[in-house]
Amino acid sequence: MKPPVFKYHRPGTVAEALAVLAEVGHDGKVLAGGQSLVPLLNMRLAAPRHLVDVNWLAELGEVACGPDAVRVGALARHARVEHDRAATGAVPLLGQAIADIAHASVRNRGTVVGSLVHADPAAELPAVLVLLGGTMELARAGDGVRRVAAADFFLGPLESAVRPGELATAATFPRPAPGAGSAWVEVARRHGDYAICGVGVLVELDQGLRVAAARAALISVGPVPVPVDLTDALGGQAADAADWAAAGRLAATAIEPEDDIHATAAYRRHLAGVLTARAARAAAAHAAERLEEAG
Ligand SMILES: Cc1cc2nc3c(=O)[nH]c(=O)nc-3n(C[C@H](O)[C@H](O)[C@H](O)COP(=O)(O)OP(=O)(O)OC[C@H]3O[C@@H](n4cnc5c(N)ncnc54)[C@H](O)[C@@H]3O)c2cc1C
Repeated sequence: MKPPVFKYHRPGTVAEALAVLAEVGHDGKVLAGGQSLVPLLNMRLAAPRHLVDVNWLAELGEVACGPDAVRVGALARHARVEHDRAATGAVPLLGQAIADIAHASVRNRGTVVGSLVHADPAAELPAVLVLLGGTMELARAGDGVRRVAAADFFLGPLESAVRPGELATAATFPRPAPGAGSAWVEVARRHGDYAICGVGVLVELDQGLRVAAARAALISVGPVPVPVDLTDALGGQAADAADWAAAGRLAATAIEPEDDIHATAAYRRHLAGVLTARAARAAAAHAAERLEEAG
C-alpha cells in the first residue's frame, strides 16, 4: 500500500523544525529513521497531514560521553551508538541491547531516540532507559527543553510522553556504578524479529564480590517496560554462586503478560523467569570482570 497524502517539510535547523512542529501541532509527525513510521504510513495505521523530516539536523547527531552519562542526540542511528566504543564502554548495556535490535540494515537507519519515542513494548531501548534511570529531552518552540525521567516517559503501547509540537532532541543514559555489570538476553522467533520476551539486568557488587543490588527491566510482557528489583532474591550472595533461579522466580511473579498471536502468557512468564536468571548471572560475571579490570 501507499501512504496517505501528506505535506513534507525539511527544516535545516532545530529552530526551524520546532517552528514547523508548533505550526502543525496535532497534524504533524517527526520523521527520523522511518523504520517504524514508514511501515505505519504504508499500512495506513497513521495518517499525519505533515511530516517533519529531521534527518538534515546535523546538530542532533552527537553522541557525547560525559563523566556521569552518555547523551545520545536524536539523529544518532542505532549502528552509530552500537559501534561507538566510548559510549558502549561507558554504558555497556547500550551495546549489549542494540546488538539485538532487528538487522544491520534497520540499525543503520533507525535512531535510538526514535525507538524511545515510538515506545514499542517489545523494543529493547525503552527498557535500557528505564533500567538505568535515564532521561529524555523534549524541546518546543519558545518553551526551552522539558526533561522527562524514563519512569514517566513510557505511558502505554506506542505511547510516550512526547506532546504534539514537541521534538525529542536527546536521551541521556547514566553510567552504571564502577562495581556494576550488565547483560541483555532475549528470545525471538527468528533472528532480527522483535523479542517474545527480553530482559536487561544490572548487578552491583561490593568489594567482596557479593551482590549489593540487582534490578531488571523486561520487555514484551506488559504495555511498557517492566522494572523489577531483584535485590531481595540476590542481595548479599556471592557473584559466582548466587541463587539465580530465585531472581528468575521473582521476575516471573512480578509481571502480568497477556496471550497474543506470538505466544501465550504462560510461555512469556516462563521465558521471563529463565531469561532473568540467565541475564542476572551474566551481569554479575560482567560486574566481577569490571571490578578486576579497575583493580
Ligand atoms: C524489520 C524491522 C525489525 C525491527 N525490529 C526491531 C527490534 O527488534 N527492536 C526494536 O527496538 N526495534 C525494531 N525495529 C524498529 C527500529 O528500531 C526503529 O528504528 C525504531 O523503532 C524507530 O526509530 P526511527 O528512527 O526509525 O523512527 P521513525 O520510524 O522515523 O519514527 C517512529 C516514531 O517516533 C517519532 N519520532 C521519531 N523521532 C522523533 C523525535 N526526535 N522527536 C519526536 N518524535 C520522534 C515519529 O514521529 C514516529 O511516531 C524494527 C524495524 C523493522 C523495519
